[in-house]
Amino acid sequence: MRAASRSNRFMGECAMAVSDHVDLNGFVEGVKKRNPGQPEFVQAVQEVAEDIFDFIQDKEAYHREQILRRIAEPDRVISFRVCWEDDAGNIRVQRGWRVQNNNSIGPYKGGIRFHPSVTEGTLKFLAFEQTFKNALTGLPMGGGKGGSNFNPKGKSDREVMRFCQSFMNELYRHIGADIDVPAGDIGVGAREIGYMFGQYKRLTNEFTGVLTGKGLEYGGSLIRTEATGYGATYFLLNMLKTKGEDLQGKVAVISGSGNVATHAAEKVTMLGGKVVTLSDSDGFVHDPAGMTQEKINWVKQLKNVRRGRISEYVDAFPGSSYHADKTPWGVPCDVALPCATQNELLGADARLLVANGCKAVSEGANMPTDLEGVHVFKDARILFAPGKAANAGGVAVSGLEMSQNSARISWKEEELQRLLIDIMDGIHARCMEYGQQGGGYCDYVKGANIAGFKKVADAMLAYGVV
Ligand code: NDP
Repeated sequence: MRAASRSNRFMGECAMAVSDHVDLNGFVEGVKKRNPGQPEFVQAVQEVAEDIFDFIQDKEAYHREQILRRIAEPDRVISFRVCWEDDAGNIRVQRGWRVQNNNSIGPYKGGIRFHPSVTEGTLKFLAFEQTFKNALTGLPMGGGKGGSNFNPKGKSDREVMRFCQSFMNELYRHIGADIDVPAGDIGVGAREIGYMFGQYKRLTNEFTGVLTGKGLEYGGSLIRTEATGYGATYFLLNMLKTKGEDLQGKVAVISGSGNVATHAAEKVTMLGGKVVTLSDSDGFVHDPAGMTQEKINWVKQLKNVRRGRISEYVDAFPGSSYHADKTPWGVPCDVALPCATQNELLGADARLLVANGCKAVSEGANMPTDLEGVHVFKDARILFAPGKAANAGGVAVSGLEMSQNSARISWKEEELQRLLIDIMDGIHARCMEYGQQGGGYCDYVKGANIAGFKKVADAMLAYGVV
């Protein structure tokens, strides 16, 4: 009773100073008003605020210093024109961005996305999520994200090179090994990182760890390519272990067929699971016999070398079927790993997964489940790991790449594999610390949001109002 009246009085005092903090709805309305036309950013902030509001209720310093309001406002958004020439000699104009969300606990860190759907709002949501994810890893990295509406699909290597060089001609002014360290994301793999790093080196005459995901020949780290998909699978395994289970014999449905999806499929298979689907933006393949390492290697080759479509899988592997314009969530499974893109798993898909007996969902992609779907999983009390926790293995190994670059050394694969497992175990433990709801249920979304927020928020308190 005393606690409640103290909290009400406190919220009343805050209401006089800051109307945004009156209640959750008021806060979210304020975010909407300040960020028009950016629904993904509002969605990401709302998901975090739903958990953080309760947590900060009785913590006066966070209110007084307006920490939540400040974390939800990027430190800066850099927007720039990117001109390049295609193979036919036409001048093409794209837009590029770098969103530097928060560097309270380390240099800005987060990937670069090249996809026609990219907008400033997409990158603001990703940079916001990245801030909490990076904090969860326990490594000293702030949150950022960048990208362009450039579409690498169907472009020649030379066109991609010219675009990457032009993109870096502006970006290089804003990044640096101790300032902001970008990496890959959708549409940005080893080829694009190589072109961008080459141009950065040429412009600055410096060889520093300014990008991660580099080739092994020029400062890259072993297991960086595998780390996100492997990490999401380790997180899944950790959740199953809390129920005395593992992946042996479990049927897994995976979306996407890029870096994260193929490495999640590989690790699930290594741990005894049976992966029956992969997808791309045109549809999904269903392989009831399950994917072997040989089949997964074929998909890697298809996507990274031939740059083909997942529909080609059915010609190579009889017994499988292709489903155009469909997502894989209707295929019955024990576990699901959405590894393609944001909002690819909606409320109705979540209900279908639960109805079909899915026990655990580990998000390899960033915010693949929409808010309704998150609520469905929470209400059903299934094991549900949000991307900011489950897919943090990639940025964690990027952090290890930064350390190796600074020290000018290369760690051995076994050492890195061990560190990745340790880091994913640590993230799982941090989520459990703040997410336990009693009755054996852990709300991993809440746990991840609070643990990530607390670390960044406490650093911000130390700095005063900056
Ligand atoms: P890739 O570019 O390697 O692969 C992306 C995959 O998702 C492709 O199969 C692609 O299909 C599919 N996809 C992209 N857009 C859509 C869409 N609108 N609808 C359906 N499918 C789509 O990217 P990554 O594997 O690196 O990234 C996948 C997700 O994981 C993203 O959310 C990313 O932010 C997240 N992530 C990645 C990390 C990394 O280390 N790479 C780290 C942490 C998170 P298509 O070929 O048709 O475009």
